[in-house]
Amino acid sequence: MQLSETIKLYMTKEQKSLIVTTMNQYINTVNSLVSIATNGTSISKYTTADVNASLPSALTNQCIRDAKSIVNKYNKDCRKVSAKNKKLAEQKSSITIKEPTVPVLKRPCCYVNNQNFKIKDNCIEFPVLINGKSRRIAIRTSITDHQKLIFANAKLGTMRIVYKGNKIVAQIVYEVAEPEYTDDGNVMGIDLGIKCPAVSYISDGSVKFYGNGRKNKYMRRHYKYLRKKLGKAKKPDAIKRINNKEQRIMKDIDHKISHDIVKTAVSHDVKVIKLERLANIRSTTRTSRKNNHSLHIWSFYRLAQFIEYKAKLAGIKVEYVNPAYTSQKCPVCGNVHHANDRNYTCSCGFHIHRDLLGAMNICNSTEYVGDSNIRYTA
Ligand SMILES: [Zn+2]
Repeated sequence: MQLSETIKLYMTKEQKSLIVTTMNQYINTVNSLVSIATNGTSISKYTTADVNASLPSALTNQCIRDAKSIVNKYNKDCRKVSAKNKKLAEQKSSITIKEPTVPVLKRPCCYVNNQNFKIKDNCIEFPVLINGKSRRIAIRTSITDHQKLIFANAKLGTMRIVYKGNKIVAQIVYEVAEPEYTDDGNVMGIDLGIKCPAVSYISDGSVKFYGNGRKNKYMRRHYKYLRKKLGKAKKPDAIKRINNKEQRIMKDIDHKISHDIVKTAVSHDVKVIKLERLANIRSTTRTSRKNNHSLHIWSFYRLAQFIEYKAKLAGIKVEYVNPAYTSQKCPVCGNVHHANDRNYTCSCGFHIHRDLLGAMNICNSTEYVGDSNIRYTA
């Protein structure tokens, strides 16, 4: 499993200007290679000799690799769309799906592979171009003890130099070995929601609620109000700042909820956590009540990702089940109907708090739809 750690960079003025130049040159090189490939010239055999870039050859090589993977994904998407359109034409449908647009990197960034950067005690070294020559620069960082431990023991992947808000940071990808899984334990079902961010039901009968939906709603409303106020005052930078702050707070909340869930799971000897498979973010299918709220789907997705990787690190397997009817089906007789108010009462006599029903049904579900929601983006 791949994870990443973010590191702050303390650059001198000169270093910052070198890095910004490198990042811009990097995306321009990737974009021009992608444009060459999508205009019909294959770049599959390209080497640094074929590319005219003001970058150290190590970075030019990485540009070629990135461009190839972007082009492969784009071609795959194109094939998917044309297959769908062919099918639609056969069905004499008047609908056609739009061709995907050629991807273009907009935010300056650069990727350095693990052969070409070095993490030292309080700095990171990697090559940039100075006066036409490749030179390693050492940038001061602050690496926590926890991060030092990770970097010393894990297999490191690519380092990405990216903008986070208006700051330039390094993200270092590393590989974590997943512990062996065993099945002889309890199962936990987790229902994610808006009013109540998460509910867990464990096969030993225990139940737990996580987070505070009302507080989150109040916070979102507060930031919406601030945005409106700043919008009227025409302060776009301030709006950006509070958006980042809101995102940071929401992310911290998700970290805390996922941490609590996995802690509960470990203390109840849970070996499998089941979550609902969230619908594809790009698709418009409405398969569950939650997917009607497209605004919320990203936050469900992030929380599910956090639960998944924390569970994996704790040796707990994560499985995804079909979300259909989990909030309507009676776990005793199988009847499907809606809940009234806060309570779900079935004609068979079964009754339960509405928010609990989902978690219980997810825990009991055997309609598996895969074992990962995580799709890593480079
Ligand atoms: Zn029933």
